[in-house]
Parts: sequence; structure tokens; C-alpha cells
Amino acid sequence: MSKWEENVRKVVPYTPGEQPKDQNVIKLNTNENPYPPSPFVMMKVNEMKDDILRKYPDPTADMLIESLADYYKIDKSSVFAGVGSDDVLGMIFMTFFKGELPILFPDVTYSFYPVWADLMDIKYETVPLNDKFEINIEDYIKPNGGIVIANPNAPTGILLEKDKIIKLLDNNKDSIVVIDEAYIDFSPEGSSCLDLISKYDNLIVVRTFSKSRNLAGLRLGYAMADPKIIKYLNDVKFSYNSYTLNTFTILAGTAAISDDAYFRKCNEKIIATRERFSEKIKELGFTVLPSDTNFVFASHKEKAASDIFQYLKNKGIFVRYFNLPGIDNYLRISIGLDEEMDKLLEELNTFLTQD
Ligand SMILES: *Cc1c(COP(=O)(O)O)cnc(C)c1O
Repeated sequence: MSKWEENVRKVVPYTPGEQPKDQNVIKLNTNENPYPPSPFVMMKVNEMKDDILRKYPDPTADMLIESLADYYKIDKSSVFAGVGSDDVLGMIFMTFFKGELPILFPDVTYSFYPVWADLMDIKYETVPLNDKFEINIEDYIKPNGGIVIANPNAPTGILLEKDKIIKLLDNNKDSIVVIDEAYIDFSPEGSSCLDLISKYDNLIVVRTFSKSRNLAGLRLGYAMADPKIIKYLNDVKFSYNSYTLNTFTILAGTAAISDDAYFRKCNEKIIATRERFSEKIKELGFTVLPSDTNFVFASHKEKAASDIFQYLKNKGIFVRYFNLPGIDNYLRISIGLDEEMDKLLEELNTFLTQD
């Protein structure tokens, strides 16, 4: 080993779901939205003058921040945006988790949380889910350096009731509570914690354009919280990279927010497909956790998830398999178009009835 290697920040990176080059595969492995973005998005991007790209982008992305603030009826001092919610969450870890006590998050959750904690030398403790894969809030009521909960949780898809989060907040005034609402737009109305940011100044709600806004390729995410939190986040952001959001992203994101009818229509379709698909896959002998997201987490009673995963992959259908303790017999299947889900059901049926 070279001498300099002793000084390398050695990390085990997060592995994102595969992005196959072959355009003909059915891609149900990264929870992308199967519908194209709002037509307003490309319209805005096409109208863009080249002079705009000659200049640096607006470092505070005012247009986008204001449109989000108007949309959610909050003050713009309560909104922070970044390069996908991954960037926003990474920034949150860097800004707020510098204490002595460990931060807490579930043992089964978005697998980027432990990666950031390791990268940034943040102490953390994982809290086991119960045997129904649910988060038990009582387990988080203890001294901590911060709490991170994906709601609905990933990859389980299970939504934590809002009154439980209120209980968590009432019993946790001394540290930051992050609720990662990447999938909340696929949950029943009223499930979000967003309205609680005016009451709890230690709460941060994180959202993304990648799933419910059909714009995973754009890389845009945002956080909403008390202005004091947003100020601390901006201080760290501007100490690291002033221009996280490029001009395309600011324009396209603003356009997407302006088309609420389209947003609602796509998400309603996905929810309808999810419900239909969940019933069908149960008929094939799968156990399906109750999902309030754009994916389902399912396990077959007889066949190993890893075998099903491989079979589907060979047939050009990509789903997600996590070879991790406790969930290694489950598949996470994103909700695609109705015809894609039908093709998947057909292949599953073939696999399950062969030999
Ligand atoms: C997809 C996802 C993210 C990251 O989304 P990006 O905005 O694309 O970076 C964050 N948290 C959870 C729980 C997710 O599933």
C-alpha cells in the first residue's frame, strides 16, 4: 500500500439500482415514475435562450424556491433545494449531526443513511423494525443526536401514521427530526408532516422530484423547515458548492410544479395500478406489505426472491433485490405502466408454474 493511501477517506459507497443501457427492458427497479414529466417541462427547457447557459445560475434558485413556497403555502425562507433529495439529505447530515450522541434510524430503511453517517464520521444506531416491518415510535424516545425516518419507509412501503410522528416530536425537542417524504405523494391525503414545520422548529421534511414529479433525471430535491434550519443548511451549502442547482433544473422544476393537474393525474394512475397489481400478485402466492408508495415489497411463500429476481432479469424485467439480513427474501417492485405490470405478472406466472 502506498504511503498516501493511509490518508485516504475510505468508504463503502451506496449502490444505486442498475440503469440498464438496453432501452427495451421493463425497468421496475428504481421507483422512477413510468409517465413522462409534465409537457410544460420540455416546453420551458426548449424556450431557454443560450445566453442563460453562458451565465452562472441563480445561486439561491429564487424562482424555484418561490414556486415551491407558493405551492405549499409556506414562506420561501422555509425552503431549501438541492441536487436530488440525496444531496439535500447529505447536506442535512453534514449540517446537523455533529453531536456526541448517536443518530437513530430504522435497521431496514433507505440504505444511503448509514453511508452518509460513515462518510461523515457520524455516530449512529439502527433501531429494529417490528415483525410486521413497522416502525415503533417508542424505540426512538431516548437520548439521541438526531432521528431520520423515511415516511413511507423504503423499501417496505409502509406509512407511519401522523399521530405517531407527532408523539415522536413531542418527546424529542432537543434534536433534529428528519422525515424523508420521498413517496408521500402516493399516500393518502393528510399523511404528510409538512404542516408540522410551523409547530416544531426541529422538524425537517424532505421531498424529491424523482418519483411523484416524474423527473429522476433532473436531480432535484428539497427540504422544508423552520427558517432557522434553512439558514443553517444554506450556510453549509454555500461553504461547499454555491451552484448546486443548474439553470435547466431551476426552469424545469418550476415548470413541473406549475402543472398540478398532470401531477395528480399521474399519481392517481400509479395508485390504481399499485392496488390492482398488489391483488394480482397475492393470487400468485406472494405476501405483499401494505404500500403507500409507488412500489411494493413482496415475498413468495415458496420460491426464493433471489431466484425470481434472476429469472425476471433474464427475461428483461428489472426489479430490486437487497441481499440484506431480514429482507433477503423480498423483492421491491416499482409500479410501472399497467401493461408493464401485466407482462411481469405473466412472467411470474410462467416461472411459478414451470417444472
Ligand atoms: C429515491 C429516494 C431518495 C432519493 O431521491 P433523489 O431525490 O432522487 O436523490 C431519498 N430517500 C428515499 C427514501 C428514496 O427512496
